[in-house]
Amino acid sequence: MRSVATGKLADFCHACSRRRVLGLFSSSSSSSGTVDPKKSYGGGGGENEVPHLPVLIVGAGPVGLILSILLTKLVCRNHHPTLLCELIFRKIDGLAEEIQSLEPPVDLWRRFIYCTSLSGPVLGSVDHMKPQDFDKIVSPISVAHFSQYKLMNLLLQRLEKLGFSVCSPSETEGSIWDRKILMGHECISIHPTNEGLKVGTSYLKEGKMEEREFHCSILVGSDGAKSTVRKLVDIDMKGERNLQTLVSVHFLSKDLGQYLLHERPGMLFFIFNPDAIGVLVAHDLDQGEFVLQIPYYSPQQKIEDFSFKVCEQIILKLVGWKLVDVQVLDIKPWVMHAEVAEKYVSHNNRVILVGDAAHRFPPAGGFGMNTGIQDAHNLAWKISSVLSGIASPSIIQTYEMERRPIAIYNTSLSVENFRAAMSVPAALGLDPAIANSVHRVINSSLCSILPPSLQKFALEGIFSIGRAQLSELILNENNPLGSLRLSRLKKIFDEGKSLQLQFPAEDLGFCYKQGALVAECGEKIRESEASSVHKRDLRPYIPCAKPGCRLPHMLINALKESSAKASFSTLDLIFGDKIEFVLIIAPIKESYRLARASMMVAKEFNVPLKVCIIWPKDSSEKNVNGSEKKLEPWKNFIDVEEAIMPTSKSWWELCQMSSNGVILVRPDEHIAWRTESNSIADDFLELKRVFSLMLGHDKFFL
Ligand SMILES: Cc1cc2nc3c(=O)[nH]c(=O)nc-3n(C[C@H](O)[C@H](O)[C@H](O)COP(=O)(O)OP(=O)(O)OC[C@H]3O[C@@H](n4cnc5c(N)ncnc54)[C@H](O)[C@@H]3O)c2cc1C
Repeated sequence: MRSVATGKLADFCHACSRRRVLGLFSSSSSSSGTVDPKKSYGGGGGENEVPHLPVLIVGAGPVGLILSILLTKLVCRNHHPTLLCELIFRKIDGLAEEIQSLEPPVDLWRRFIYCTSLSGPVLGSVDHMKPQDFDKIVSPISVAHFSQYKLMNLLLQRLEKLGFSVCSPSETEGSIWDRKILMGHECISIHPTNEGLKVGTSYLKEGKMEEREFHCSILVGSDGAKSTVRKLVDIDMKGERNLQTLVSVHFLSKDLGQYLLHERPGMLFFIFNPDAIGVLVAHDLDQGEFVLQIPYYSPQQKIEDFSFKVCEQIILKLVGWKLVDVQVLDIKPWVMHAEVAEKYVSHNNRVILVGDAAHRFPPAGGFGMNTGIQDAHNLAWKISSVLSGIASPSIIQTYEMERRPIAIYNTSLSVENFRAAMSVPAALGLDPAIANSVHRVINSSLCSILPPSLQKFALEGIFSIGRAQLSELILNENNPLGSLRLSRLKKIFDEGKSLQLQFPAEDLGFCYKQGALVAECGEKIRESEASSVHKRDLRPYIPCAKPGCRLPHMLINALKESSAKASFSTLDLIFGDKIEFVLIIAPIKESYRLARASMMVAKEFNVPLKVCIIWPKDSSEKNVNGSEKKLEPWKNFIDVEEAIMPTSKSWWELCQMSSNGVILVRPDEHIAWRTESNSIADDFLELKRVFSLMLGHDKFFL
């Protein structure tokens, strides 16, 4: 996953057979709510009753699966710390490491290649990786390229390790509902009840549709771009619809894989020739696994026109020689939209949308699933906090406040990036805007009186005249038009104006403006700095410790823990398997004082809090021993020292703060609040303000 965990996960599931799945998340240990009546957020349901689940997740795509893993770890696990885990995937039992060991070597996917056929002339080749993408200075983990369907398999394995079982409808008759993934169940109705929600599902059993009901406190709709949950709770999408219709063809060819592996390795191949155009996504060159995206124009062209045979022929036209081992596995149509749900939360904080159910973008820049996984990360600790009584249910509103602006921003960034991708065919004389206008004219009332076969003939005729401009006769340096087009193309590539892959400022630097955050006393949470700049300009990620930003990464060493001498990231101070806030301080008197007050207030709020004292590099053990005394009677603290490189900044310089700085970090690694410890008049009053605002307990101010 890109921004927060690993890298560009090109989609695959559209090419594989989709399974309608309800994820059932339930935990009996979560029923000790103190903020809400126990019944309304707890688990329950006797043997013969309709089961009442704390959380029901509808849709087991990548986002639903990640959410159930995060929730299971936060709510249900015994609270033993697993030391040194990583960004979201790093926090899921070695998942990031597994992805990195399984992904292809970077040299096989760092390039996008533009050509007239896979064996014909290369029009341009763009390398998207820079040395700093691997230096691990701003993040402990590098971008990765890993197919979505392979990720899904790894996620299902993780869930099985957490005690989940995957069940078919017949296997779930009368069984206990804890930790089940129910295959083949489709959510068909949602009704509020006094204690939560009643959810109707249907499933096929022995050729007959059957129905089953569930009761739950919270329902999360992670059921994808066509979300039924979203429709059932009447939430509209806002944005641009139908940007493009495509056919996705999943196929295997070892021969093609081996050829590209040795001659022309890349991740995406944009192929333009007089016979066909398409974008080939290389999922695994070694295994010869590909997905081809072909634009198509309905209703003149129909999905049935793309039979296995026709798709095979299109593949051969794009490859440029007769491959004998092409094996088409699946053909799926899909429509590109750029829309965000008007609301993410409804039914009194009980129905919540995540992932593609909440936003759907052009797959340009790899933001789709990554944004969805960030949603799940943001939501998991909030749901867990409500279930365990730490936070008020109103904290769920902050999920929408924080995540919706990010989705809106990423939508427009993806649209800009998609338009940039279209600049290449436009420079070649194949302007997609013109193709769309031609299509609109043929769809117009005047042409619609023509028989469909004639409309199709006209459309394909016009398109083939357009594609003829890609012939080698025209597209060469000796032809004035061809030479002009080739030089235009070169300019696009040289100026970085084609489709981009890397967005470090957005991947790591996304920052919440308002939500479960507290502005420093006297300071308002600022407007997003990103909103004023041109989105597609490649901007570096600049670590920042303002409320709403992700905690900066820096290598540190644990002091006094002989078993943990190896350096680890500041991000690893936050464990993925329990709700715990972390207060980071420097070893100075005022900050120790504030830390003691924080511990006391956190206890009053029932919030687990750990203090981390960051010492300058090479601090002597003698000094370090002092923390125990300074924080007495509180024991949950860790002394660490900076493990900085000779040229890098100290922790407080990195955070752009003085060493009086104090930073409060949430369980999702975002900064909730920060201050300078010598600037606070009344520690207790200020900390009560911070915890109550962050957790939605406005009662302290009533
Ligand atoms: C060509 C292409 C390339 C892409 N490349 C990237 C990329 O490089 N990086 C990236 O981050 N993203 C990419 N994406 C986007 C990514 O695939 C999606 O954002 C991602 O799949 C969303 O995950 P999800 O879990 O929200 O939804 P989905 O993956 O759509 O999963 C939803 C699940 O819910 C089930 N379901 C639906 N309705 C119901 C119901 N009523 N009841 C029960 N279950 C139901 C479905 O069967 C499905 O299993 C790409 C998308 C496309 C089309």
